Amino acid sequence: MSCFFSFNKDLSTKNGFANNSLKRMGEERDKVDVDSLYRQKNTRYFVLSKSQQLIKNLHPFDALFTPEEIIILGGQLEEAYLLGFDENNAAFFALSVPQRDKYPDNIQAIDLRAITRSGLLKHEDLGAIAQARSLVLWHQSHCFCSNCGKKTKVIDAGYARFCPSCERRHFPRTDPVAIMLVIDKKGRCLLGRSASFPENMLSALAGFVEVGETVEEAVKRELFEEAGIKADKVLYHSSQPWPFPSSLMMGFYAQAATTDIKLNDELEFCHWFTKQETRQILENTHPKGFKPPSKMAIARQLMVGFVENY
Ligand SMILES: [Zn+2]
Repeated sequence: MSCFFSFNKDLSTKNGFANNSLKRMGEERDKVDVDSLYRQKNTRYFVLSKSQQLIKNLHPFDALFTPEEIIILGGQLEEAYLLGFDENNAAFFALSVPQRDKYPDNIQAIDLRAITRSGLLKHEDLGAIAQARSLVLWHQSHCFCSNCGKKTKVIDAGYARFCPSCERRHFPRTDPVAIMLVIDKKGRCLLGRSASFPENMLSALAGFVEVGETVEEAVKRELFEEAGIKADKVLYHSSQPWPFPSSLMMGFYAQAATTDIKLNDELEFCHWFTKQETRQILENTHPKGFKPPSKMAIARQLMVGFVENY
């Protein structure tokens, strides 16, 4: 009898925004005395202004701010959301501060995508930064109850909102996205690009999971809708938080049952690539100048896994 179970190591640890080491204390958030934490000397804040990340111009760049620095930036400490605690039990919060034309000399507001592309920040901070960004942006867009339309208030140290009018609780959302590298019977993988990608960059195909659909079904549907490819088998690889604003990328390999490409409007280019060509793309040596996804992207890990293990 064959064995169904074959446990593999957790491949998500190599994905960008993974390895968030904060202890979230999810079961105890409603009991935490956050008022006593806001001004503690070792408390730290990740700070957004509008949707931009504030960072300090140090070497390396630093995304963490002290309570005193928050006050200088015009932030309200009591409006922060608790992310969790580090190994020394220091509290970490997320906070939005008013947007300014000019910040103090040592501080800049920067788009998080730019930060991740350039590797400006410490890798170990990126998971908590993703958590902070998704949480702040969720609060900004959920001030009113989706059930009755009345104003909601923050509860559970920032991990839920409560409507005093109809007593409904609202929780931060995460939108599942299927991303897949489909491989045909000749051992080639399918890569494509949409017009919004950086010039010459290719990636795996992806799309949001719809309601009433498994992620596996979404993999097959997206491949057919975007490229006209039918897939008959799927294999889960790993997942990745993607805080733009709050997606969870779920990566798969798929086995193609057909190879004729029929593009829809979402992609401007899509093509089958051999392992050798995919390796050239990853190494930036492809003769046509094709470029890989950023080192933060799960699509890149799918391509690396294909080249190294398929
Ligand atoms: Zn309500």
